[in-house]
Amino acid sequence: MKHCTCNSLPDAGRRSFFASAASAVAAAGVIATSAMAAEPARAQPAPLGGQRKFMEEAARLAIESVEKGWGGPFGAVITRDGEIIGRGQNRVLLKGCEIYITGAPCAMCMSAIYWSRIDHVYFASTLTDTSAIGFDDAYQYEDFAKPWDKRRIAVSEAFERDLGLKAFKAWTDKKDRHQY
Ligand SMILES: [Zn+2]
Repeated sequence: MKHCTCNSLPDAGRRSFFASAASAVAAAGVIATSAMAAEPARAQPAPLGGQRKFMEEAARLAIESVEKGWGGPFGAVITRDGEIIGRGQNRVLLKGCEIYITGAPCAMCMSAIYWSRIDHVYFASTLTDTSAIGFDDAYQYEDFAKPWDKRRIAVSEAFERDLGLKAFKAWTDKKDRHQY
């Protein structure tokens, strides 16, 4: 059983969705930040010819976002066969945005919507309608409403909590942190 209606989108829609998702990931900054923290410093291989221009475009989008007051310094492009097929940039500071979706957003998309600070979500078919055609997203929402120890996936809350708090202290102690 599939678990996300995102994959039911036609090609163009899927590209646009994943561009948005990449943007949302960049917007969240969480994955990028934690990946950077987890990766030990090491020599990077030289970029292959032509790839630099993709990162230049991502950087251009990031800088545009900052300069226009749309959000933080994060941009992303998605490429296929050497061509850019999707662009995204951090726009968490945009106000007054609404989204119209044909199906109820899955938990991942809803999370991206929260991070994007969308004001209003309009969706057509319901979670029940979605489940009826074989895309079971509803159980995730049901799971979220339960205590940690009652969920389908085992979750250990406050596991070695002191280590997490140590990382938080590094954040709260940093005077020039960018709050978002
Ligand atoms: Zn989704």
